[in-house]
Amino acid sequence: MNDLLGRPLRNLRLSVTDRCNLRCEYCMPEDDYVWLPREDVLHFEEISALVDVFLSLGVDKIRLTGGEPLLRRDLASLVTMIAHRPGLNDLALTTNGILLSDQIAALAAAGLGRITVSLDTLRRDRFVKLTRADQLEAVHAGIEAARRVFGRLKIDTVVIRGVNDDEVGALLEYGRSVGAEVRFIEYMDVGGASRWSPDRVVSRREILDAVSQRYGRATPLDEPGSSAPAERFALPDGTTFGIIASTTEPFCRTCDRSRLTADGMWYLCLYATRGIDLRAPLRAGASPDMLRAILAGGWRSRDDRGAEERVALGERRAFVPVQDLLRKDPHLEMHTRGG
Ligand code: SAM
Repeated sequence: MNDLLGRPLRNLRLSVTDRCNLRCEYCMPEDDYVWLPREDVLHFEEISALVDVFLSLGVDKIRLTGGEPLLRRDLASLVTMIAHRPGLNDLALTTNGILLSDQIAALAAAGLGRITVSLDTLRRDRFVKLTRADQLEAVHAGIEAARRVFGRLKIDTVVIRGVNDDEVGALLEYGRSVGAEVRFIEYMDVGGASRWSPDRVVSRREILDAVSQRYGRATPLDEPGSSAPAERFALPDGTTFGIIASTTEPFCRTCDRSRLTADGMWYLCLYATRGIDLRAPLRAGASPDMLRAILAGGWRSRDDRGAEERVALGERRAFVPVQDLLRKDPHLEMHTRGG
């Protein structure tokens, strides 16, 4: 099933909670937040029913995210419910890693396929400043556990000027030492990033230059037909890494991602200001066919190119003003929508 720009519905990011145990400066910098009402949060049975409908329409990759997905009690049960559904080729999890070492065995046994851990700094003082939590050791333990159980993993790093841009090399080397491919993410002006400004963005070009200067020329890996957001490179010693250039060189043309929030709102673009409510019809007893019709109608009329439109603006500032909008609608936040 294709949208108006010929992009297939394939990739679903499933947020299981809007709560997080970190307060990263680039994602949740405020002192207080408006949370989704508890009664609105979908039960696992409801998520699983929606997953079936998505799979029947062509989704074949699902990433569990949040908020911090490991805060959702007994996440492994949800993994058990969906991991072996026909048509699902890839079930991944994005986590900050703090609770990972406790849960990894259950998640792997339940059928989780892959893990990405977000880690922006290797320095404890910086970690505390950036996340407002003294949890770097727990993240390292989580990464170690992921390596033990899955053999390999990915590490996602948001690079911010004046914050951690001097750690690109150190993070690459750390990744190599723990069997992780590091993906450097440009700082995005998404909802929630209320401290964003263009001068704090370290561009794909700058990241590549910094890596190449230190380790030799980074060669792009040829991956034809890939709709993955990361462009991958190899260094002369064989180390591979990725760059996600959503801010300076967005990839809307191939974007096959959509997002389901923990309370059942479906967003077709990270920058969309409105989503499609799936909870109401689901709880009103809509049949799978009725839900399929809602999804198909939404996707077939999708023409979003949010990140490209941001670039076209020229002069950019934080996407959503905190006072006006974020406080009124938590759905606009990255931590609700699932990064
Ligand atoms: N708590 C989980 C984690 O830490 O990975 C999952 C949710 S988090 C919102 C998902 C990803 O979004 C993280 O890798 C985070 O770094 C990224 N993210 C959040 N705000 C961002 C921003 N302003 N620019 C780029 N990436 C961002």
